Amino acid sequence: MPLALYDTWSRTTRAFTPINPDYVGLYCCGPTVYDHAHIGNLRTYVFEDVLRRVLAFNGYAVRHVVNITDVGHLVSDADEGEDKMEKGSRRSGESAWAIAERYAAAFMNDWRALNLLEPAVWCRATDHIAEQIAFIAELERNGYTYRTSDGVYFDTSKQDDYGFLARLYVAGLQAGKRVAIGEKLRATDFALWKFSPSDATRQMEWDSPWGRGFPGWHIECSAMSEKYLGPWFDIHCGGEDHIAVHHSNEIAQTQARHGTRLANFWMHGHFLMLDAGKMSKSAGDFVRLQTLIDRGIDPLAYRYLCLTAHYRSTLRFNADAADAAHAALDRLRRIYAQWPEAGTPDAHFVARFKAEVDQDLNLPRALAVLWELVKCDLPAATRRATVDCFDAVLGLRLADWKAGTYAIPADIALLAGQRDKARAGKEWGEADRLREVLKAAGWHVEDSASGQLLRPLDKTRL
Ligand code: AMP
Ligand code: ZN
Repeated sequence: MPLALYDTWSRTTRAFTPINPDYVGLYCCGPTVYDHAHIGNLRTYVFEDVLRRVLAFNGYAVRHVVNITDVGHLVSDADEGEDKMEKGSRRSGESAWAIAERYAAAFMNDWRALNLLEPAVWCRATDHIAEQIAFIAELERNGYTYRTSDGVYFDTSKQDDYGFLARLYVAGLQAGKRVAIGEKLRATDFALWKFSPSDATRQMEWDSPWGRGFPGWHIECSAMSEKYLGPWFDIHCGGEDHIAVHHSNEIAQTQARHGTRLANFWMHGHFLMLDAGKMSKSAGDFVRLQTLIDRGIDPLAYRYLCLTAHYRSTLRFNADAADAAHAALDRLRRIYAQWPEAGTPDAHFVARFKAEVDQDLNLPRALAVLWELVKCDLPAATRRATVDCFDAVLGLRLADWKAGTYAIPADIALLAGQRDKARAGKEWGEADRLREVLKAAGWHVEDSASGQLLRPLDKTRL
């Protein structure tokens, strides 16, 4: 059975065939680096990583491009309000450039902790200003733009099918002008270039044919995806919130320049929700990967949790779900670690697993196949080799795991360090006391020849 993927453009699941025989072009909208990523954002990157791994499982080479938005993403999608980077700068007192560096680096740490494969290209908006200006200039020549006192805007009335991706009812949107649209001619029009305010200097601004200012948020993705993948490539991804505005606008821009809808498949990951509701960076109520690590949850257990829900369904996150995922991964690791190496994969199980992941990335069913394999009576070496094969898609790094390799929260590491010192100084009473303190904090200590091994107390059952 061939690989089939759900395409938001056509609203169908259809067979995937690459445009170019050499590689699959995959562009994923990346983070806006004015703050840490929350685990909702990270769910989307896990989905995209699984997609990439499934493509590789099908024998395709993948050219994966991820952008980093470090300018131009305004607080409101309606082209109003402050640039998120400048807002972040005002909040912390650092420069917008320093903030971009700091949060991009933090993002890379999360990326690696979740075992996401490195993209072929990371591209930053601020490194591609010339490409964005050239793009806007051509849109202007083609008659798709107009100017106001605060910027250059894309005229969405020039395209009959504007908003098709989102099945937007454009006439209705225009009629119900409840949102303030400033000098824009209609609610769906969007900024391509914004002018710096006349009475203030922005930290991030550039000269352009239209005046000093900065690019709108959407143009970076049309310009950079074109640079690295061309104006017609295989798959474009992002979170479901991007369908109505960001991706509709990317399509409008590229269509106005090249006549293509940018990507053959448009794929969107659904949201991770907290029990309390939506998680948002701006509201400040977000859970980071580090928050989970500090609670004794392994980042790869969070990855496992993401795999338990189909990417096109909402995933509810709470402490119980995180603990359950951690326990399941722990159990899998401990069973796997007991199996001998040097087996060969079982073709029947591999085919069943592949059939599930090929059906629009049905990872929950693929995990069910995995657990059936774990419990079946095939020789242990065969089961290990088969699980290794699955792990190319799951990305749980089972072969790398050694008992005792948990992500240790900072306060626990501090206590363990004190206990190490006590043991080195033969202060056995103090070492025992610290063992009890660690136990009360939910961590079990095992003394081995190579030092202390720590593991979370309630997550050690086989
Ligand atoms: P941002 O950094 O806000 O530009 O978002 C980065 C990515 O995370 C985008 O693909 C968003 O669509 C996605 N995203 C934002 N919030 C969530 C959420 N709660 N669950 C899943 N994905 C999200
Ligand atoms: Zn984008």
